[in-house]
Amino acid sequence: MTSTPAVSGSRTAVPDAVGPRSAAIMERARALFPGGVNSPVRAYGAVGGEPFVVERGEGARIWDADGREYIDYVLSWGPLVLGHAPPVVLDALRETMQRGTSFGMPSELEVQLGEAIRARMPHLEMLRFVSSGTEATMSLLRLARAYTGRDRVLKFDGCYHGHADSFLVRAGSGVATLGIPGSPGIPRELAALTLTAPLNDLGATAETARKFGGELAAIIVEPVVGNAGFIAPDRDFLPGLRALADETGALLIFDEVMTGYRIALGGAHERFGVTPDLTALGKVIGGGLPVAAYGGRRDLMERVAPSGPVYQAGTLSGNPLAMAAGLATLRSLTPVLHDRISVRAGELVEGLRQVAGRHGVPFSADHAGSMWGFSFRDRPPRSFADAQQADIGLFRRVFHAARARGLSFAPSAYEAAFMSAAHGTREVAETLERFDDALRAAIAA
Ligand code: PLP
Repeated sequence: MTSTPAVSGSRTAVPDAVGPRSAAIMERARALFPGGVNSPVRAYGAVGGEPFVVERGEGARIWDADGREYIDYVLSWGPLVLGHAPPVVLDALRETMQRGTSFGMPSELEVQLGEAIRARMPHLEMLRFVSSGTEATMSLLRLARAYTGRDRVLKFDGCYHGHADSFLVRAGSGVATLGIPGSPGIPRELAALTLTAPLNDLGATAETARKFGGELAAIIVEPVVGNAGFIAPDRDFLPGLRALADETGALLIFDEVMTGYRIALGGAHERFGVTPDLTALGKVIGGGLPVAAYGGRRDLMERVAPSGPVYQAGTLSGNPLAMAAGLATLRSLTPVLHDRISVRAGELVEGLRQVAGRHGVPFSADHAGSMWGFSFRDRPPRSFADAQQADIGLFRRVFHAARARGLSFAPSAYEAAFMSAAHGTREVAETLERFDDALRAAIAA
């Protein structure tokens, strides 16, 4: 495999568009897939221009179809906490696939991964493996509705819980509103069962929760938000949601598809000391293969088929290759390693703040463990409305300038970034240098 070195720091050496091979492959892709992609954000709709096509990854870096190298902070949108192609995961996959790729029958690997998860998250007394975060949250809502005998769900403006109908709902402006479908094809009657409230606004949340209290099946939240940019919870927010759930009889669901094994090895329960009734996991627990899970209190999970009547199933659920990749990842992610990645994320965030400070642009950046984010705004956003007030135009220009200098960030101002075990001090130093140059170019543009 040939690979040219990263685009150098000098502005004159910077290519301004994707290479010819990437462009040619994307042209074929557009004839096949809506927007040329198999998941919408990949198409660069939020930043304009054209995505590069990835050819391979190793450690902290990826290479595109034209051999250009990038330090990658997308990391497959979160799963790759060990970096790209970690030998420990590849070895586990090789070893497992010798024995077959799928059985659709019970296997010990499922039990091993389930036990590994429960060892870190004891409040997941029982769990069920599925293949995507969407399946996990969708199944949890069905379970919550069945258990409580209620239909409404309360979510937060800017949080993403996968693409099931009930979650593709945005708030109207102002305080909590009744749901408005965020996509054609979602029955209005179903969307109307989804209530929304602004993040970190316990007053508005309490008002809505109490108004609909007797009808509320669940309150669902990303404990640290990564789908409206990076937004940390105020100190009283998650305890407040726990209290509101208890008061109204709704179940509290933490969607830890993104935060699990990133903000702490034990997730939000460990980091914030708040225990949800039910939890969705995904991303890291599959180590880059399609795995997600939902779980929680035993009395709730026992309602799931075949123990109970709440139906949910999956042909490839608990797939051995996926279980093996997840298990290898979780076994490698020791507390010492987690702390090291978190410290590195802190160093990067601090370095970016200093770079932005030198250029005099409004900027904030923060991290929780190995999940981080930045925003062209003076103070860290506390809500989706705050995030939308950032300088999105500057984000777009910086995104493209950074990409041209070999930095891979998510192509949207409303996504978190990630750090992996493969990002060392060298990658951090190179990132800061490239970011500095990108910011200079973006400001001048
Ligand atoms: N929940 C959260 C918090 C997510 O970030 C995502 C995806 O990014 C999902 C659910 C959906 O997961 P998937 O894309 O695996 O369906």
